[in-house]
This record gives sequence, C-alpha cells and structure tokens, in this order.
Amino acid sequence: MLNPLKNVLQEHGLKATTQRLTLLEYMMTHDNHPTAEMIHNELPDISLATVYNTLEKFVEKKLVVIIDGISDGKRHYDAADHPHYHVINTKTNEIIDAANFDPAPLIKAAQAATGLKITEYRIDLYGVEPNTNEVHS
Ligand SMILES: [Zn+2]
Repeated sequence: MLNPLKNVLQEHGLKATTQRLTLLEYMMTHDNHPTAEMIHNELPDISLATVYNTLEKFVEKKLVVIIDGISDGKRHYDAADHPHYHVINTKTNEIIDAANFDPAPLIKAAQAATGLKITEYRIDLYGVEPNTNEVHS
C-alpha cells in the first residue's frame, strides 16, 4: 500500500510506527497549533508521554515546529510543511496563521548584517484586539 506519510517518516530517518503515522497525519491535517495534551485528549489511545516524545522527535527532524512564548505556558506545535508566520492574541492565547508576508527582505538584511546564510526562520507577532470604543487621537 502506498502511504506518503510513511515515506515522509522514512525519508527523515524515522521508523514508520502506527503511532508516528497517526501523529504525523494529525499534525498535517490540523491548523489548531495543539499542545501534547490537546492531541492526547483527541487521540486517547496514544499516551501523553508518547505524544510528547513523538512530537519532540518530529521537531528534531524538522517535521514540526514549536511555538512557545504563549502565556498559557505550554508548548504548542505546528506542522513545518507550509512556511507562514503567527500572530498570537495575548488576551485569548489564540495562535493565528497569517499569510501575505514576504520574508525575502528580512532574510537579505539578516544575511547582510551577519554574513550567515539564513536557512530557516520563525516569526511570531503578539497583539490584542483593538478596543473599537476607544477614541484614537
Ligand atoms: Zn501555524
């Protein structure tokens, strides 16, 4: 049986166990930036420790990225298959996928400033909903 996720795991040097396949599929099909607890609640057959350890293995292999600095104090995860940046609502801790960003000028500037070749980037912006009743001067 052809299973593209199985190939993804194998290409990243990971044995394609049933639990890894289930968790990778979950990450590829959800945009909810889950914590290990959130996934474990939805997939109770996989122990919390296994969810956590598998996600950390995926992070190591760059299949998944960590979003931290959320004020719930928890580590959130996101599939690394589609470059985008996040805007975090600091009141609700909602992590919102945002598009329409061209990282090229920033990468160019960073390379010029440091002489390093930028190979990856991560950008998190934080904000609150503007108070629409507030009068701006
Ligand atoms: Zn995201």
